[in-house]
Amino acid sequence: MSVLVFIENRESRFTKSAFELISYACRIASDLNTSVTALSIGNLDAAELNKAGTYGASKVLTLQNPDITTLDNVVYTSILEQAVKLDGATVIVMGSGFVGKAIAPRLSARLQAGMVPYATSIPSSYNPITIRKKTFSGKAFTDIEVNTPLCIITLSPNSFGVHESAITPQILEFNPDLSSVTFSTKVESTEKFSGKILLSEADIVVSAGRGMKGPENWGPVEELAEVLGAATACSRPVADEGWRPHAEHVGQTGKVIAPNLYFAFGISGAIQHVAGISSSKVIVAINKDPEAPIFETADYGIVGDVQKVLPELIQAIKTLKAH
Ligand SMILES: Cc1cc2nc3c(=O)[nH]c(=O)nc-3n(C[C@H](O)[C@H](O)[C@H](O)COP(=O)(O)OP(=O)(O)OC[C@H]3O[C@@H](n4cnc5c(N)ncnc54)[C@H](O)[C@@H]3O)c2cc1C
Repeated sequence: MSVLVFIENRESRFTKSAFELISYACRIASDLNTSVTALSIGNLDAAELNKAGTYGASKVLTLQNPDITTLDNVVYTSILEQAVKLDGATVIVMGSGFVGKAIAPRLSARLQAGMVPYATSIPSSYNPITIRKKTFSGKAFTDIEVNTPLCIITLSPNSFGVHESAITPQILEFNPDLSSVTFSTKVESTEKFSGKILLSEADIVVSAGRGMKGPENWGPVEELAEVLGAATACSRPVADEGWRPHAEHVGQTGKVIAPNLYFAFGISGAIQHVAGISSSKVIVAINKDPEAPIFETADYGIVGDVQKVLPELIQAIKTLKAH
C-alpha cells in the first residue's frame, strides 16, 4: 500500500504544481499510515529529484527514456499502470492540467479504479474514500465516494498549498516494459517563446477583455505585465476577434491557470471565464460596472475605467519598485 504521485517537469525542472501534489499526497499517506512514492518522467538530475523529498516523498521513481519526447497518452498510461503495480499503490494523485486530463481517465479504465477529477480538498473520509470536487465549472461542489480498491485523484491547483516535510528520498531508476506499446506521438520541431513568461506557469497574470475596446489599447496591459514580471492573458471573445493570440485565452475552452495573482481588466466574469481562473490565489478585478459578475469572484475590486486605472497602477507600481 502506498500513495503514488505523478509529478511533471518542464525543461528538467519540476513544475510549481509538482510540490503541491506531493504535499497533498503526503497528507493522504499520513492519514492512511503509509508512504508517498513520486513518479517522474524525463531527464532530471539528482538535485532536482531530491526536491521531491523536501515535500515528503520517501521514494522517487525516475524514468529517463530518450524515446519519450512528449506526452503520449498510450505510453504514459502504460508507465503509470506499471508504476502503480510495482509500488502497490492504492491511491494515485496527479494534477488536473493537460497531462492529468489525458491520462487519469485512461488509467482509471485500465485499472478499474474510481476517479475524482478536480478534487479541491483532502478526503473527508477514507472508508470509502470521499472527496470534494468542483462541478459546473466551479459553480458548485460535489462529494464523490469511491468504492473501488484503487482511487485516482486529480487535484485542482492551489487547493491544498505547498507544505514542507523534509526527508531524504530513495531515488530509484524505473524501467517499465514498453515493448508492446506503440509510440504514436513524435515531436518534429519545437518553437520556443523567448523572453515571454509561460502563461500556465506564471505567478502573476495580467488579463484583459472586451472592455479594452480594441487591440490598439493593449500597450498598457503589456506594460503592466512587464513591470510585474507577469504573463498576459485574455477572455475568449478577445481571442476570437483576433485582438490577441488564442494561446492567451483562459477559461473553460481555453487555458486553466492558477497564478498567485490574477488581474482582470474589462472582463465581465462570465462563468466560462471564471472556470479557467478560479484557482488563482488572489483575483483583482477592474471594471466600470459595479454590478459586473467578476466582482463576485474577485478578492479585490476597482470600479473604474481601465484606460484610467491601468496607467495609474503602472505608475504606482513603478514608484513602489523604485524605493
Ligand atoms: C461554450 C462556451 C465556452 C466559453 N468559453 C470561454 C472561455 O474559455 N473564456 C472566456 O473568457 N469566455 C468564454 N466564453 C464566453 C463567455 O461566455 C463570455 O462571453 C466572455 O467571457 C465575455 O468576455 P469579456 O468579459 O471580455 O466581454 P464582455 O462580456 O463584453 O464584458 C466586457 C466587460 O468590460 C467592462 N467594461 C467595458 N468598458 C470598460 C472600461 N472602459 N473600463 C472598465 N471596464 C469596462 C464591461 O462592464 C463588461 O463587464 C464561452 C462561452 C460559451 C458559450
